[in-house]
Amino acid sequence: MNLTLNEDQIMIRDMAERFLADASDSPAVRRAMDSDSGHDAAVWQQIGNELGWCGVAIDEDHGGLGLGVSTLALIQEQAGRRLLCAPFFATVCVAAPLIDAIATMEARAQWLPQIASGEQTFAVTLAGDLSGERLNAVRAGDGWQLSGRLDQVVDGGSADQLLVFAQVGEGDSDIGLFILPRASQGVSARALNTWDQARRMAEVTVDNAAATRIDDPARLIEGLHRAMSLARIYLAAEQLGAAQQCLDMTLEYTATRKQFGRVIAGFQAVKHRCAQMMIRIEALRSAVQGTAAMAMSDAAPVRLALEAAMLRARAVDTAFYCAQEAIQLHGGVGFTWEYDPHLYFKRAQAAQHWLGAADRLIDGVGQVLSQAPAALLTDNADDTAENAAFRAEVAQWMRAHLTGRFASLQFRGGPGDEEVDPALRKEWERELASGGWTCVGWPQEAGGRGLSIQQQVIYFEEYARAGGPGRMGHIGEGLLGPALIRFGSKAQKQQFLPDIVAGKTFWAQGYSEPGAGSDLANVQTRAEQQADGRWVVNGQKIWTSLAHESDWIFVLARCEPGSKGHKGLIFLLMPLNQPGIEIRPIKQIGGGSEFNEVFFDGAIAQAEHVVGEPGDGWKVAMGLLEAERGVSTLGQQMHFAHELALVINAAKASGRINDPGICSRIAQAWSGLRVMRYNALRMLSSAEAGLGREALMYKYFWSNWHRDLGELAMDVLGAQAAVISDDPAIRPLQQLFFFSRSDTIYAGTNEIQLNLISERGLGMPREARPKA
Ligand SMILES: Cc1cc2nc3c(=O)[nH]c(=O)nc-3n(C[C@H](O)[C@H](O)[C@H](O)COP(=O)(O)OP(=O)(O)OC[C@H]3O[C@@H](n4cnc5c(N)ncnc54)[C@H](O)[C@@H]3O)c2cc1C
Repeated sequence: MNLTLNEDQIMIRDMAERFLADASDSPAVRRAMDSDSGHDAAVWQQIGNELGWCGVAIDEDHGGLGLGVSTLALIQEQAGRRLLCAPFFATVCVAAPLIDAIATMEARAQWLPQIASGEQTFAVTLAGDLSGERLNAVRAGDGWQLSGRLDQVVDGGSADQLLVFAQVGEGDSDIGLFILPRASQGVSARALNTWDQARRMAEVTVDNAAATRIDDPARLIEGLHRAMSLARIYLAAEQLGAAQQCLDMTLEYTATRKQFGRVIAGFQAVKHRCAQMMIRIEALRSAVQGTAAMAMSDAAPVRLALEAAMLRARAVDTAFYCAQEAIQLHGGVGFTWEYDPHLYFKRAQAAQHWLGAADRLIDGVGQVLSQAPAALLTDNADDTAENAAFRAEVAQWMRAHLTGRFASLQFRGGPGDEEVDPALRKEWERELASGGWTCVGWPQEAGGRGLSIQQQVIYFEEYARAGGPGRMGHIGEGLLGPALIRFGSKAQKQQFLPDIVAGKTFWAQGYSEPGAGSDLANVQTRAEQQADGRWVVNGQKIWTSLAHESDWIFVLARCEPGSKGHKGLIFLLMPLNQPGIEIRPIKQIGGGSEFNEVFFDGAIAQAEHVVGEPGDGWKVAMGLLEAERGVSTLGQQMHFAHELALVINAAKASGRINDPGICSRIAQAWSGLRVMRYNALRMLSSAEAGLGREALMYKYFWSNWHRDLGELAMDVLGAQAAVISDDPAIRPLQQLFFFSRSDTIYAGTNEIQLNLISERGLGMPREARPKA
């Protein structure tokens, strides 16, 4: 699954953005809202005839462009962003998928080309699973007659055709899909005076109106699942666009509105709230693109339906959250008719009830997870043949090698469990190396395997599934190695990379100091160069993970006396086993001592072990932090599926699985798991070139998800959570709970991440910093 947009997709998205920024700006939307039809006919004409959007996802045999679900979702996102007043959603995003998935060959041949060309528009209901609101059908000669009332029909007062489900027999599943012209005798529509006038609804009454049945009964059930999933994906895309616009409006407003003598965008409370909006938006964007890609794979319709259900729930939450934040952060003007936030707020509220209420969808997925978790916790649903073969290769290797003396390491040594048999885990690193399974994402010329992000995800998924132990070499492999590949000299690469790949050398990270935590640029450890070129280091590092098990440490120190901030720093590589270095363990909240204090008293770094230029160490340190906040934790995250499985098992054992609240939190945890996978596939592909703006939320998302999972684990265990346990079903959950408190601290605390997201991701004013 590749979630990077291709050039054509970017072009179509940008074109849609430009076109709608003009054709559907705020005055245009308000004009359409005040008009009788609710649409601007000229805009629709352009969309249907000139831009070709109506046929984007319709296959070429039926007059469309065949560009697929992902591309239509990109257009629909822009439509949602601009509250496009047109029959686009009902016709293109709901009716077309329904006809495509359910109708007979003849009906598809008749209707899909007319949708693709923009000639015909359709009205639909959005109740439940699309077939929720039904008419009654009776045979009339060769045809059918429909009767009944539909409470809320999108474009029911304006579309050319009604596309409706009707009961054709007694049983609940005895339904058919019908088309009847809106102007037919017996059809009457009453416009509803809804709060959201940007999407018109009508109550439609049908009284013995002649209709054409178009479904192929053999395709109906599965087709309904598929059409429903697609409609949910497109609605989620629309909500994504709406949420994005709420954020954009808010950024624009807060950048100009002044209070207390400065723009309100400079207040951290405002910045962090905007950052939270961006985090939810980017998570939703990953979920939309991931689910759209799944819809274009061979994934089973039922699996897609579950994924689309959770996507829908996420979209509801995100759209509402961003709309209400937009109102709040606009202050008084946010409560006026004149400013736009209320339009999005009303849409967000209305959309809560379309295509199934979010809480019921979450419940449904929770039920599936509680009964058959394995089906949803495996990640091979959308594997291509090539990926499936690679997956099998990894699984096979793990089965063959995680045996014998290594068997005791299965599922051990992860966060909070690092003290388990370090010596054997170092041997395991060498075993991995013998199979070429260390540093899998490094380029081949650096000794790695050169795997794509997609393959790395698969590798780590299989590693985690097999119970591969927590990696002793992760600091060398995930942090120092990538930094050396990017910034190191040829000699440094030759000296250090092979031993990291071979699992022979283990590294520690010497960044934090008692006075330099979040403000890392305040490091005071000193490095002084001697006449022979060597550097003498004095000072103290703290919170140094695994220093007591490491051979080397990379150290950020101050090499220019009197320098301040990020200037005058040096990035040094130092052996730990030397006079002048003392390592003292620090006991952590879980009882173990994974981190240490490291004291430097005249310790030596060789002249050739400066990475980058002396005085320019900050650049290297930041490059390394990018890796730390990005791809380095991929393996850890793939282990999360296993932890969620443990939580589900514990919930079954304690009986709390029957508690709807717990069940719903489990479903939401699964949804987050999917987002993390899609985040990785979307955000880390070009990690070598530096992380993109959207990847700033990557670390925040997974670390907070993990912390929430720890809390869920404790709630599931109930009172027994408080008793220290050796039970392999309980102990890992207790470790998860305690250790995950650190996830939101190391590699940049939550608050620092929010600063970064708002400043670098959203361009908001920077926090005051001491002058360098
Ligand atoms: C388990 C664990 C392992 C670690 N391993 C390593 C390691 O191997 N090597 C290493 O070098 N370091 C390591 N660290 C240290 C880690 O990087 C720091 O703890 C982290 O950067 C925070 O620094 P601090 O602890 O000094 O907290 P402080 O910076 O003092 O922060 C305290 C609180 O103030 C908030 N705060 C600070 N500044 C701001 C601001 N500008 N705006 C808003 N809020 C702010 C913080 O978010 C936090 O909530 C580890 C930490 C943990 C918990």
